[in-house]
Amino acid sequence: MHAEVLVVGGGPIGTVAARCAAEAGASVLLVDRRDSIDRVSCCTGLVSHRTLVMLGVSKDSVLHEIRRITVHAPDGKRLDLAADHSKAVVIDRIRLERELHDLARAAGVEVRLGTEAVAASDDSIVLDGADGQQDVTASAIIGADGPSSRVAEWFGLPHPENIIRAAQAVIETAQSVPTDRVEIFLGDRFAPGFFAWAVPEASDRLRVGLGATPPLEPTEYLDRLLETEFGSCRVLARSGGVVPVSPTTRSAVGSTFLVGDAAGQVKPLSGGGLYPGSLCARIAGRIAAEVALSEPSRDGTAAAYESEWRSAIGREVAFGRAIRRISGMLSDRELSAAIAACDDPALLSFLAEHADIDRLHRLPDELATQPLLWGKILRLLPRMVNREIADLPDRSSVVSVPPASL
Ligand SMILES: Cc1cc2nc3c(=O)[nH]c(=O)nc-3n(C[C@H](O)[C@H](O)[C@H](O)COP(=O)(O)OP(=O)(O)OC[C@H]3O[C@@H](n4cnc5c(N)ncnc54)[C@H](O)[C@@H]3O)c2cc1C
Repeated sequence: MHAEVLVVGGGPIGTVAARCAAEAGASVLLVDRRDSIDRVSCCTGLVSHRTLVMLGVSKDSVLHEIRRITVHAPDGKRLDLAADHSKAVVIDRIRLERELHDLARAAGVEVRLGTEAVAASDDSIVLDGADGQQDVTASAIIGADGPSSRVAEWFGLPHPENIIRAAQAVIETAQSVPTDRVEIFLGDRFAPGFFAWAVPEASDRLRVGLGATPPLEPTEYLDRLLETEFGSCRVLARSGGVVPVSPTTRSAVGSTFLVGDAAGQVKPLSGGGLYPGSLCARIAGRIAAEVALSEPSRDGTAAAYESEWRSAIGREVAFGRAIRRISGMLSDRELSAAIAACDDPALLSFLAEHADIDRLHRLPDELATQPLLWGKILRLLPRMVNREIADLPDRSSVVSVPPASL
């Protein structure tokens, strides 16, 4: 069998890539090893409104709108931020994936569930499905098969190097919880190297989870978090997964393209992959269709794909990685001090209104237009500045900045 574009992996990102390739005129085969879409990857389902637009879906999967966030510092203090408009939504991921599959089929994509890509040769992929094994040749292949992508292995492409292991539980709460508020827990005692969260699924149900840097085991931290912060709650379900926190160094070769978690196309600060992944899926789908439909096949498409998606999400990735690096150097005490310094009504209201979960890299530019806040921000910097300086090899050439002078 021949497909102009073969997409391996029918998660949200593969489905968007397949739909875009079909809309660009290619015949597309999408395969997923899951036999039912209702068996989805572990996900908290917190996304921006923009993500739904980028995925090309309706609001049918939206459970709640989020307007408030509470940040728990390592020392137990909390910051409450409230915006006067909706900042994000919580979605039902199964409904989202059902809609994405319907849209892909409506665009002409042939979707085969219960079909696993099990091997590859120079010019074909072996699929194992209900009717046994079948060789499929394709003019372009999209690997949307998650962070442990087999497509990457077969075509000599790297896996995301930096990963977090995440664990999540859905819990039933004894009392009702606000459905417009997300809670974040920071510090080594909650989630070393990442953060923990509680996101409302219903007025009596929370998705509580966290990430931890390997080799730490996130389930141990999750058990502790549930016990200390949500003691009287009943655990309804548990799940876990791998979250890439930076892109792969290469994501394409010839006419094979990795997309989504397979390429590490995520926001490094949160691990959120639905927005950047869907943005890159549109690029991958279009370029794969162009490759498949061009005669003779064109050179340079792998490089074109790399450069287009890296310029689309590169600034957010670079910003997120820098903040992760800096915050990773802070002790719990320093992090608590930095959070305490943010406890200022003008600063909190600025952050609540201007922070955009997909575009945090724009925050410094926004801050630059608010001179009244500069002094408050500078109060946060001394420890971080000193840490950065302490990291430099030749300290004699650098003057440390005493906090009082800032
Ligand atoms: C605990 C947790 C919470 C998260 N919360 C959020 C959040 O709140 N917001 C957000 O934006 N992101 C979140 N993410 C990240 C988000 O879930 C991923 O970025 C997103 O699922 C990536 O989609 P994908 O299609 O690239 O990969 P996946 O969703 O992993 O889909 C890959 C698909 O490929 C299929 N597959 C794999 N191998 C094969 C094969 N050989 N043959 C056929 N099929 C194959 C799998 O069955 C799967 O369906 C979270 C992740 C975790 C782990």
